[in-house]
This record gives sequence, C-alpha cells and structure tokens, in this order.
Amino acid sequence: MQIISTVSAMQALRRNLTSSIGLVPTMGYLHEGHLSLVRRARCENDIVIVSIFVNPSQFGPNEDLGTYPRDLEHDLALLREAQVDYVFAPSNDELYPPRYQTWVELSELPQQLEGARRPGHFRGVTTIVSKLFHLTRPTRAYFGQKDAQQALILRRMVADLNFALQMIICPTVREAHGLAMSSRNNYLSAEERQGAGVLYQALQAAQSAYDAGERCAERLREIMRDVLAQEPLARPEYISAADLETLTEIPGLITGPALLSLAVPFAGKARLIDNIWLGTSPDTLPAL
Ligand code: AMP
Repeated sequence: MQIISTVSAMQALRRNLTSSIGLVPTMGYLHEGHLSLVRRARCENDIVIVSIFVNPSQFGPNEDLGTYPRDLEHDLALLREAQVDYVFAPSNDELYPPRYQTWVELSELPQQLEGARRPGHFRGVTTIVSKLFHLTRPTRAYFGQKDAQQALILRRMVADLNFALQMIICPTVREAHGLAMSSRNNYLSAEERQGAGVLYQALQAAQSAYDAGERCAERLREIMRDVLAQEPLARPEYISAADLETLTEIPGLITGPALLSLAVPFAGKARLIDNIWLGTSPDTLPAL
C-alpha cells in the first residue's frame, strides 16, 4: 500500500493507471462503515484508492473541526489489512493553497435538511469531492447511505457535471443495537451510545407503520417524535419525511420514494444523524 500526500504525486500516479479504479473518500478515524465501502470497492475494481482528509471547508465556524477524531496510523493499518492499493492523505495546504477561490455548489438540494442547518456544508463537500474526482478519475466512487443527502447531492453533481464515473451508495452499517456507526460516536460514553440506539428505533417504528400501510407523512414524523421523546438525552433538531428526489418535506400522503431522516444532538455532545429510505433503495434509484 502506497501513501500519497501531494497533489502532484497523485496526478503523476494517476497518469500511469490504466485499469478500473474504485475511490472511497473519507475523513479518517475509520470504522466498519468505512470498511464496508472499501471492501465493496476492493471487490469491484482492479485498484482501490482511499482518501483521508478532514475537509475544513465543510465545517461551520461553530462545528467540531478542531476536535474531529484523527488516528492516521490506525487507519493505515486497517486499510493495509483491507488490501487497499493507495491512500491519498494530503495536507490542507495541498488542497486549499493560499488564494484558493473556486467552489462547486448546487442550487437546490443543499437548501434542505442538513444543508438548511449547516450553511456552506455541502458547498464544502461538493468542492472537495470534485477535486478528488479530478485527481483520481475513478471508475466508481463509493459513499454511504448513512449520509443520504450527501450521497443524493453527489449523485446529482456527477450527472450535472458529466463526471464519467459510477456512484455506488452502500447500506448503513450499524452497531448491534442499531446505532449507525460514525466517527462522531466517539464523543459519547458507552452508556450514551446505547441510548443513542433510539434514533434507529424511531426510524424502525415509522418503517413498520409504513409497511403496515400508513402513508400520511405527518403521522410518520409523529411516530418518530414519540419514540425519540422516550430518551431524555435526545434533543431532536429535525424529524423529516421528505421526497427522496427533491428532499422537500412531504405535506400530505407519501406517493413515491421517501427519505425519513433525523438530526439529533445527543447528551449535548454529538450531533447524530440517521435515515431510512421508503419505496426505493440505493440499488433501485433511477439513473439521472
Ligand atoms: P466520513 O469519514 O464520515 O466523511 O465518511 C466517509 C464515507 O463513509 C461517507 O460516504 C459516509 O457516508 C460513509 N459512512 C460513514 N459511516 C457509515 C456507516 N455507518 N455505514 C456506511 N457508510 C458510512
């Protein structure tokens, strides 16, 4: 496994690669969720590149850029074991040199859900992922369903900007009690992590109601709200039942693919997000 830390070295390497390439962009502090993407990329491509970069431009001024967990040595050991070929781990200055001023921004999807609460977040995400796509020119790029809005925004960006690659959205990997794995779970104690399983319980309760025929979006939001209310450490920021294509709240009945999603600051320590999809899955999403 080779570690690449500069843009020029990445470009030089890429010029010599001719077979299929799977790219897995990450911010490091890797867990089983990340590794599930890496394994799928390993299966489907000749060459696997994993990027590790805590992208400052996607953090707001009051967010956790300074405290975001990092452990490059451990990450590299996990990636070596997963038989990754190349790790791209550049410094901030490599990707955002002085006088940097170019941004990639979508006009509509980032206005909803996470984007409405985290101004500028998706502009940072779409910019860094565009840069990674240019540098690595992957055949396939792997993202988690865990960050559903991010995956759907990037899918739109790939279509709009004609990136010649296939977007693969992989299922959310969870702890045994349902909590979606996340580097930010590290901010919680073992006991709090147990309690944080309530997010998935809320989503599952709504899924069961939907499966039993409930189609009223507000009723599903109410079901999720009621389950979350049972856990005093959970302070929901939003509880959403949105159209999966536009990400706008569904006012009445659910008639097509829907995204149920939650953002829940937990124990005053970690802002947790989770989601499930109704009436569709990453594998059955139509091409754009
Ligand atoms: P991050 O390091 O948090 O930026 O995540 C890198 C990639 O891993 C993103 O595409 C995430 O959606 C994905 N990911 C993070 N957590 C999970 C999880 N629990 N299951 C599946 N994918 C995940």
